[in-house]
Amino acid sequence: MAFDWLNKFQKAQTKAPNYAEKTLAAYKLGMKAKGSIAGVRVATSPQSCSAAQAIDATEIYHPDEAPHLPLADCPHAQTCQCVYRPVMKYEVEEK
Ligand SMILES: [Zn+2]
Repeated sequence: MAFDWLNKFQKAQTKAPNYAEKTLAAYKLGMKAKGSIAGVRVATSPQSCSAAQAIDATEIYHPDEAPHLPLADCPHAQTCQCVYRPVMKYEVEEK
């Protein structure tokens, strides 16, 4: 899976203060450029806070409408395990 490295990378990192802005902007570019990205999902882990667990992990957001991470009421703030994951067009089409 091509995004495994990305997953590991993101989970090992503390989020930069502009994590949401940077990541969503990058995915937005990916949607425009070759159009291979359909949107973003919020991926949580078992260690994620309850605020993150409450997010529907199957919901696909446009980068402009995705919940801002870290979530406002997240107790872990920058070290929270919730991340944005790109949703590829082929994933959506499989449904
Ligand atoms: Zn959180």
